[in-house]
Amino acid sequence: MRTGLTPAEALASVLSHTPVLASERVECAAALGRVLVEPVASGRDLPPSDNSAMDGFAVRAADLEQASPDSPVELKLAFEIHAGGIPERPLEAGECARILTGAPLPEGADSVVRQEDIEAEGPRVRFQQPVPNGEHVRRRGEDTRVGETILEAGTRIGAAETGMLAALGRSYVAVHRQPRVAILSGGDELVEPDGDVSGGRIVSSNSYSMAAQCRLAGAIPQYLGIARDSPEALEELLRAGLASDVLVSSAGVSVGDRDFVRPVLEKLGCRLEFWGVQMKPGYPLTFGLFPEGTSGLNPLTFGLPGNPVSAMVTFEQFVRPALLHMAGHTALHRPTLDVTVGETLRKKAGRLHFVRVTLERRGKEVVARSFGNQSSGVLRSMCDAQALLIFPAEASELPRGGRARVQLLDETFLASRQPAF
Ligand code: AMP
Ligand code: MG
Repeated sequence: MRTGLTPAEALASVLSHTPVLASERVECAAALGRVLVEPVASGRDLPPSDNSAMDGFAVRAADLEQASPDSPVELKLAFEIHAGGIPERPLEAGECARILTGAPLPEGADSVVRQEDIEAEGPRVRFQQPVPNGEHVRRRGEDTRVGETILEAGTRIGAAETGMLAALGRSYVAVHRQPRVAILSGGDELVEPDGDVSGGRIVSSNSYSMAAQCRLAGAIPQYLGIARDSPEALEELLRAGLASDVLVSSAGVSVGDRDFVRPVLEKLGCRLEFWGVQMKPGYPLTFGLFPEGTSGLNPLTFGLPGNPVSAMVTFEQFVRPALLHMAGHTALHRPTLDVTVGETLRKKAGRLHFVRVTLERRGKEVVARSFGNQSSGVLRSMCDAQALLIFPAEASELPRGGRARVQLLDETFLASRQPAF
């Protein structure tokens, strides 16, 4: 087991041991946020035929070449085509056909003149100007062509992809499985939210923040409950988690004499890869693997520190990228932003600090301000923070007005109260 890794080394270790989960077939309508295992090719041309982009008249552009306000051209109104209909016959020279948006263009026609550009209507229609060949015509296959790859493997399915799968006539799609994450918390002081908090007990808030972080990462949390501070209690709950893809526990990974997570994991056959990451908050983070063969199950195992902010920050930095990788995503990390430091920050050189900051737009700049109390027990700091400011390990001061990088925890920071138009 390694110890004292930099956050980058720890992340590299986690990802090097994280598999990509196998494929499953799901209904397209329920595939939002999932990642395609295979490319999706089009089995059809879309649109299926040349069709009209406007309500108007299908014409042969050559018929209108001489049209002008002084000398309009009259074409015989031959028939009508609506969306969902089929032209009854080809369009002959000297004819036009009434056509509605989405209706297939009749053979012989090459262009559409908008209804608004015609003055009189009747058995004969008058055109006062020429029309460029192809005007207001949507070409067969201009969206998708038969055989063309439309969505690459690895694509995250969003709203447009969901619509496209439907347009291609797909009902099911192969996507990576969602990681199942067993979550447990350890500590004699912990109770559930409706529990008795007399005698120094506190609610196991980590259980809930971790489960929520799982869901936000597209994983399926399975809450195992609270383990008391004994090796036996911990072993029982950890065993229950071995059937999951990932096991996440909080607390009991430090050096206290009631910190049993590491010895119990090892007893169960877990190979600990590292303990201790040069970061604040979150130093005691533990990561291990159950090698193949240990009862056939090999969940990735994260022992997160117990302090509420440490648990959340280490989840963000290490568990979340692993969950995304498992589900087939390639962009594993939160977006970052370069910001102006709003007030001078100081620390001892040595560990990288993740500083909880609020962000404020000031003209073209974004200014980051530290949430006053950076204690790892103050969960409020995570409620108020919009980002984590990266205070590099070797730096001891980030002066006011200087530049720094933040990791956006919540993209709604970019959401605006004002419309864009
Ligand atoms: P430990 O790692 O057990 O020393 O816990 C460190 C700190 O985190 C202690 O103050 C615990 O009370 C607190 N803590 C541990 N587990 C949780 C939890 N599930 N929810 C909230 N706080 C916790
Ligand atoms: Mg404890």
